[in-house]
Amino acid sequence: MKLLPTKCQNMKTMKCDLCDHQAQGETFEEWMNALKPHYMTAHADVMQQHVGNPEEMKTKMGAWMKENQERFEAM
Ligand SMILES: [Zn+2]
Repeated sequence: MKLLPTKCQNMKTMKCDLCDHQAQGETFEEWMNALKPHYMTAHADVMQQHVGNPEEMKTKMGAWMKENQERFEAM
């Protein structure tokens, strides 16, 4: 019997940085995409804080991505 290639092998499960919700992804980008719908609903207030200030939003997003990517790579 031939085994199917298991794509799940390299999946990492990492918690949301604000709560215990878990998202999965093989890469940080995948993880971020998996987390996005959760973030949009559960942490909409966090996103809302920077609406109307695109520069600040960009800075915060950049810092958030760097921080979480480091967390992801360390797993
Ligand atoms: Zn969360």
